Amino acid sequence: MKKKVNTKACFGMMGISINSWKLKFTFTPTQKNNELLTELDEYIAIIGKAQESDGYLQTQIQLRDGVDRYENRKYHEMYNTGHLLISACIHYNVTGQRNFLNIAIKHADLLYTIFMPDTKHFGRFGFNQTQIMGLVELYRTLGDKKYLQLAEKFIDNRGKYEVKHHTTTEGYPIGDMVQERTPLRESNEAVGHAVLALYYYAGAADVYAETGEKALLDALDRLWENVTTKKMYVTGAVGQAHYGASVNRDMIEEGFIDAYMMPNMTAYNETCANLCNAMFSYRMLNLYGEAKYADIVELVLYNSALSGISVTGKEYFYANPLRMLNNTRDYNAHENVTETPNREPYLSCFCCPPNLVRTIATVSEWAYSLSENGFTANLYGANTLNSHLKDGSPIKVSQETAYPWQGKVKLNIEECKAGAFSISLRIPKWAKNSKLTLNEEELSKSLEPGSFVKIERKWKKEM
Ligand SMILES: [Zn+2]
Repeated sequence: MKKKVNTKACFGMMGISINSWKLKFTFTPTQKNNELLTELDEYIAIIGKAQESDGYLQTQIQLRDGVDRYENRKYHEMYNTGHLLISACIHYNVTGQRNFLNIAIKHADLLYTIFMPDTKHFGRFGFNQTQIMGLVELYRTLGDKKYLQLAEKFIDNRGKYEVKHHTTTEGYPIGDMVQERTPLRESNEAVGHAVLALYYYAGAADVYAETGEKALLDALDRLWENVTTKKMYVTGAVGQAHYGASVNRDMIEEGFIDAYMMPNMTAYNETCANLCNAMFSYRMLNLYGEAKYADIVELVLYNSALSGISVTGKEYFYANPLRMLNNTRDYNAHENVTETPNREPYLSCFCCPPNLVRTIATVSEWAYSLSENGFTANLYGANTLNSHLKDGSPIKVSQETAYPWQGKVKLNIEECKAGAFSISLRIPKWAKNSKLTLNEEELSKSLEPGSFVKIERKWKKEM
């Protein structure tokens, strides 16, 4: 018997402002492009040559006279480390090559010898803490627990030492600015630099995913609620002020101030902070499987992430205020560095452009999740899912939609196993009065905005 098997979920139109969106979810990050791989190998060889024999690798220190390694946390050594570890693990997982991974291992092993022991000099290190996510990624890739222990150590050290200036902290605000006044497990309030805070929370979520420590998750729950209900703009952007004070009245930069203080013109909203907000929520989505986390990811992606890049992909914003007068900003010292009136082709403070581009490349991984026996559609956009369910059976699904311009999403089963499995669809929080149809017939399921609806049955390709 001919039987059409597809689902069609109809949503209402979005009620939020959307920036120009001309990307289609058709890219595949693993094309095995040999030219690209060869080019990467050349870069990796250069990176390897820059690495010192004991594993140290920080060219911003190595090329600078008069500055020693791990002398002051403001030099972003841990931040660079985190990106090095993550990119090396992804390179290995995608290519199977160990050339980049071996550099990362050697570097992480050095970190372990320096930062695992309790020392006053190194205790307050970690600053823009991407190294926590990087170490967990390395643990997941290699299975060696010492990397997970070191990731935890960086969390445990925060809030343990007296907050006063020291040779390792001079030249940059201390205390809440770098989330070192309150131990994470006791934190109720997002404080300090928004990028630093959210990378830290995202890293802690990764640690929790591996250790299952409840106190950590409880703190992350409180912090997620605090960020998304009291300190986040309607665009999903975070970081209300360029300069300000924390709730404990520590000086802060580029970050969180008091709850509900949401200025539009002086909002800082660094592109990285907005992206980190999505990264933190994506990790919480994986921990809980609740739609409210995917709602934040979607909100950021279509608004305060994409606002950071031009339609051509060649110009960038660092700060994303919600309102500018006549395209001018003339009230602070960072004019033309991080707060530019227009998107710029080159930002001398260069974190945001590559962070945004790598996030766009990651979105295809965020779009779907595997469930015990089936899959979940977290984000919508025209694409093809071509993967395997947890039991190893192939699953191929095409998604047709003009989302976000139109709210209609159609999933077509192209290939799947014979046995029953579930498909869960996110009903966005903004989508009132949604309809769900299966083979043109409306399903009488509860479509609560801000939840997943699960359909479990046998599926087959439309004939
Ligand atoms: Zn940035």
